[in-house]
Amino acid sequence: MTNTEKNTTEKLNPESVEQIKKDLLKRKSQLEEDLADISQREEDNPDEYKVKFPEFGDKPDENAQEISEYTTNLATEQVLEKKLRDINNALNRIEKDTYGTCKYCGGTIKEKRLLARPTASACIECKTKLQNQS
Ligand SMILES: [Zn+2]
Repeated sequence: MTNTEKNTTEKLNPESVEQIKKDLLKRKSQLEEDLADISQREEDNPDEYKVKFPEFGDKPDENAQEISEYTTNLATEQVLEKKLRDINNALNRIEKDTYGTCKYCGGTIKEKRLLARPTASACIECKTKLQNQS
């Protein structure tokens, strides 16, 4: 690999970052809507979501349905909340101007990767290395 192929000093195009930010904000509000359907924010900690327990009725099959729906919603809520956290972290990095920097090697993450995966916080080289370890 020659020096020109290394991308440690390469800066991200500010227009791409602006585009990514818009995209992240859109995804964020979509996720918050989805979360609001199945959960509610805790009053004393608005960053935490609590899954609502569905009410279908009092018959045994309705109770079973409630539990099954609640279990599904719990799993969904965890996935959504993790996505939301990733997006908020990415938005924080944009604010602090550290967006696009790999958290492991400190190199610049390729713009192509960020456009495909805006919440990526590690470069593809580090990611591959870590995945191969496990
Ligand atoms: Zn890296």
